[in-house]
Amino acid sequence: MAETEIPEDHPRYASLLTRHRIEAGVEKGITSRQGLIAQGRGEAFDYLLGERTLPSADAAARAAAATLLSAAHPVFSVNGNVAALVPAETVELADVVGADLEVNLFNRTEDRMRAIADHLREHGATEVKGLTGDGEIPGLEHDRGTVDADGIGTADVVVVPLEDGDRAEALTAADKTEVVIDLNPGSRSPRTAAIPIVDNVLRAVPNVTAHARELAGVSPAERREIIEGFDADAALEAAEDAIRNGEFETDAKR
Ligand code: ATP
Repeated sequence: MAETEIPEDHPRYASLLTRHRIEAGVEKGITSRQGLIAQGRGEAFDYLLGERTLPSADAAARAAAATLLSAAHPVFSVNGNVAALVPAETVELADVVGADLEVNLFNRTEDRMRAIADHLREHGATEVKGLTGDGEIPGLEHDRGTVDADGIGTADVVVVPLEDGDRAEALTAADKTEVVIDLNPGSRSPRTAAIPIVDNVLRAVPNVTAHARELAGVSPAERREIIEGFDADAALEAAEDAIRNGEFETDAKR
């Protein structure tokens, strides 16, 4: 089925669209088969969250936008799921906040690195980092710690959607401020992040962009206030509470 054939009024439209994009990503060689499993996990959490952006996730997105705009060298790390789900949205966010794009894979293969970089260029990216691989995040085995020295290697702020826990911890240990987008508030990556956005990348990335556009003109002091006012533990707790104590909607939207 082509993307345009999914009826927009289908009660599971977002989930069908997501599955379709991930499947197409696997066919195009940008998403790994492991990525299919990650997607399944994400979908289950999204269902439990009510497939909506919680107010706490919106606050996190706003803090993330303020952090990115205040950064000296922000980098958006892109893996196979992100490239399949939100390629144009990722390029747009990087553009609005002046971030580098760097391909960074759990299972690094040159073919997939190149396919993702090409895919991002097809969606408007001019420069894509990650293929040089001349830098290293300490504390990780070779392939998983490989980054570009002038990308993530020297970044002060990194956006890592759907990152695995080890790498998220190693990036924090390397003094990077991390913005993690992950639907599972219990996963290690959002738990180690300075700013965990517990939301679907499909909603979170455009939301951070919208906040960034709004905050582009505000003073550095005002941005600092937004960042300092954000409470990561409270955001994780709010998401966990929505999952554990929320109710399934029974109306026609589901
Ligand atoms: P950790 O080592 O941190 O515990 P993990 O083993 O939970 O990580 P994986 O299963 O490798 O991590 O990665 C998948 C993660 O990505 C899951 O937490 C899942 O909820 C999340 N995820 C999958 N799809 C999406 C999506 N579309 N938007 C946001 N998060 C997603």
